[in-house]
Amino acid sequence: MPHDLIAFRRGDPGYEAARRAASFNARLPDRFPEIIIQARSEANVEAAVALANANGWTIGVRSGGHSWAANHIRDGGMLLDVSRLNRVEVDAAAMTARVGPGCEGNAINSLLAKKKLFFPVGHCESVCLGGYLLQGGYGWNSRVLGNACASVIGIDYVGADGIARHASAEENPDLFWAARGAGPGFFAVVTRFHLKLTRRPRVIGAKAAFYGIEHLEALVRWAHEVGPRVPDSIELMMLVSRKTDFVKGAGITVVAPVFSDSLRQAWRDLAFMKTLPPGATRKTPFLPTTVKAMTRQVMGHYPADWNYAVDNMWTHATADQLLPGIRRIAKTLPAAPSHMLWMNWAPPTGRPDMAYSLDDQTYIALYGVWKDEADTPTASTWARDNMAAMSPLSTGVQLADENLGARPAPFLAEPNMARLDALRAKHDPQGRFYPYMGRV
Ligand SMILES: Cc1cc2nc3c(=O)[nH]c(=O)nc-3n(C[C@H](O)[C@H](O)[C@H](O)COP(=O)(O)OP(=O)(O)OC[C@H]3O[C@@H](n4cnc5c(N)ncnc54)[C@H](O)[C@@H]3O)c2cc1C
Repeated sequence: MPHDLIAFRRGDPGYEAARRAASFNARLPDRFPEIIIQARSEANVEAAVALANANGWTIGVRSGGHSWAANHIRDGGMLLDVSRLNRVEVDAAAMTARVGPGCEGNAINSLLAKKKLFFPVGHCESVCLGGYLLQGGYGWNSRVLGNACASVIGIDYVGADGIARHASAEENPDLFWAARGAGPGFFAVVTRFHLKLTRRPRVIGAKAAFYGIEHLEALVRWAHEVGPRVPDSIELMMLVSRKTDFVKGAGITVVAPVFSDSLRQAWRDLAFMKTLPPGATRKTPFLPTTVKAMTRQVMGHYPADWNYAVDNMWTHATADQLLPGIRRIAKTLPAAPSHMLWMNWAPPTGRPDMAYSLDDQTYIALYGVWKDEADTPTASTWARDNMAAMSPLSTGVQLADENLGARPAPFLAEPNMARLDALRAKHDPQGRFYPYMGRV
């Protein structure tokens, strides 16, 4: 064992704490790596991959540990924890940044806000850039800027041979192509991302409305009707939960975050919200705020140290086609903070050629969230069972909220999946890195 590697073998004191710390989801899988390495430098990552090669260990990589399914925690092999590689360097003049995979979205956002720069970080505080960028990255203002991975201009990585290299459009382009969308099926360790930044929109804020659950059908019909006309500056979302602000019991929050360059433009873009169906218990005016404050608000639905079971679907089905499934989702919805998210997306135009390749008009995700073991049988199957029932209406799933081990589904366009498989065979011929937990 190289002397500067921090390692825990199975059975060592500290092993279980290190395994537990590697997952945001309190519901840890019954899977036990042979060894856990906590890397503190790129040299540590090289040494860890060399060690895995010498011992024939397959590697699972962890950055922020927010994979709901804990993809990186596998049975046997090596869990390589790179969360400590979390440095951020911003070059404001060049509008670029270099960030470690263990950097939290809110950390880079706070730094960029001070410099009036922007990057589409995720909607939740502690999600780290490692897994987030590899799987695509649906972040604030992503309908304008595209998935966050489209703003990756290079990566530093350690390949299956244990050697550190750089990849970009010009250098090692195979790895660069794969790193933007392969998610938990990437076949190298990213030790640094090189990012393109944009100017920060001058006006950031949101408008919201709150409804009792009896308005679900009217809202779904309304959202599907206005969805195609909602300006890209707005990511229209609906959240269905048994606990909703300003509502007694189950209800729906309709929220429209806006990224704009003037207040006047923000109001203009929000005009469609005037057509909301009647019956809201409360409507807020457009409230200017910050990404940090909106992220804090979102975190109320994703508390740490709870058990999670999630699943999702992309779809272009009509409201009429979706409503029977959505009614069933609402009827079987476990206690809050479990919830259903409906999001208006529509694939951004001008996407670069990269592994990421599958999305659709509408996104539906289910988050079963519970504390009490007695709720496990219902809360842990709610998301999967409802998404399985609606799968004939689905075009595939988002890797952000994947549940491939329990319910395989397509997540890349077929030609991209075939190219990714060929690149994996070429660059990781021994299978040093774990593949996806499930494939169709
Ligand atoms: C509370 C919460 C909120 C979320 N909100 C959003 C959101 O708004 N938008 C969105 O797009 N997603 C969101 N997600 C999903 C999240 O982006 C993905 O789970 C992402 O993979 C998390 O990245 P991570 O580094 O924190 O997690 P990790 O679990 O560390 O990474 C996920 C997987 O990626 C691979 N991986 C990670 N790091 C590396 C690396 N350095 N090199 C090679 N492979 C690596 C591993 O296979 C790992 O299992 C959310 C998840 C949670 C738990």
